[in-house]
Amino acid sequence: NRQLVLASRPKGEPDADTLRLETKPVPEPAPGQMLLRTEYLSLDPYMRGRMSDAPSYAAPVDVGAVMEGGTVAQVVVSHLDGFSAGDWVLSFNGWQDFAVSDGAGVTVLGPDLAHPSWALGIMGMPGFTAWAGLTQIGAPKSGETVCVAAATGPVGATVGQIAKLMGCHVVGIAGGAEKCAYAVKDLGFDACIDHKSDGFADKLKTAAPKGIDVYFENVGGAVFDAVLPLLNTGARIPVCGLVSGYNATELPDGPDRMGWLMGQMLRKRMTMRGFIIFKDFGHLYPEFAAAMTAWLAAGKMHYREEVIEGLEEAPRAFIGLLRGENFGKRVIHVGPE
Ligand code: NDP
Repeated sequence: NRQLVLASRPKGEPDADTLRLETKPVPEPAPGQMLLRTEYLSLDPYMRGRMSDAPSYAAPVDVGAVMEGGTVAQVVVSHLDGFSAGDWVLSFNGWQDFAVSDGAGVTVLGPDLAHPSWALGIMGMPGFTAWAGLTQIGAPKSGETVCVAAATGPVGATVGQIAKLMGCHVVGIAGGAEKCAYAVKDLGFDACIDHKSDGFADKLKTAAPKGIDVYFENVGGAVFDAVLPLLNTGARIPVCGLVSGYNATELPDGPDRMGWLMGQMLRKRMTMRGFIIFKDFGHLYPEFAAAMTAWLAAGKMHYREEVIEGLEEAPRAFIGLLRGENFGKRVIHVGPE
């Protein structure tokens, strides 16, 4: 059983010393347990938080423990009612080949899945995050302007496509011309601006001529600086993630802009609300799943996945994810199928 364990807590960007590959015997499931074999491992920005022992909404991974992660797995042996050998499940095996589970938090996925790994993306946590943050906090009305960064990632791409289905003018922000072209041509966004390009803030202003009513915050940092002056009175800001700062070791330099932000919030009567998907909106998952299943069946939703072969590639692939090297949802293909 190959395992990637947290070797040390990274300072700044994770590196080659952060995770260590170990090989252990395949565990034996006891009565009331089952053995799961990982097929796909999800890579997600939140994993950077689990590497750190700074205060958070969830406990960190202990040094020496297997790195946490959502997985699509197959049941190998089951001593549990409701789970049979061969079942595909959504589980939390972490960064390893095999895991023993008592079934807590494990969901059986249907048989004959066309795309098992999609349970880690558009049909799973990132897709649900997009839907819930947009509909429950952003609450856009037809004709309003919705802006989202990390626009080609699993959350951002879904936010923008749902906003289009709701009749909104959608402006994406992404890193690089290729991602921006994809957001417009394939995802159907009205515009997408490269945050690394010269004149980014001016281009964003031109792309949102009526200002921004909903800013779905995925990244923070310099992108938020460009968005803030464009927000309209009554704007809603679901604060979903701040990936530009996940490797930061201290607050950015520069003048304190808190007063500016608070002044804008007050004068424009804006609402900013942070959320943690399953803590705040877990009860809405069935509603999301029904809506997303119907959109996918009707061909109304595009989903881009980047499958990387081999568990041993996971550390490098994760570091790249935080740098924006991913183009779509990044998953590791671990298993043999
Ligand atoms: P993505 O696949 O979109 O990956 C992160 C992307 O962030 C990168 O590809 C890159 O895209 C962008 N990025 C990285 N650094 C910067 C930077 N300095 N400035 C601007 N953009 C940057 O991730 P997800 O779709 O999985 O997640 C999106 C966000 O949602 C994350 O912040 C994540 O933490 C958050 N999240 C929050 C949840 C919650 O419950 N609150 C649940 C799930 C996700 P590009 O190259 O286009 O710039």
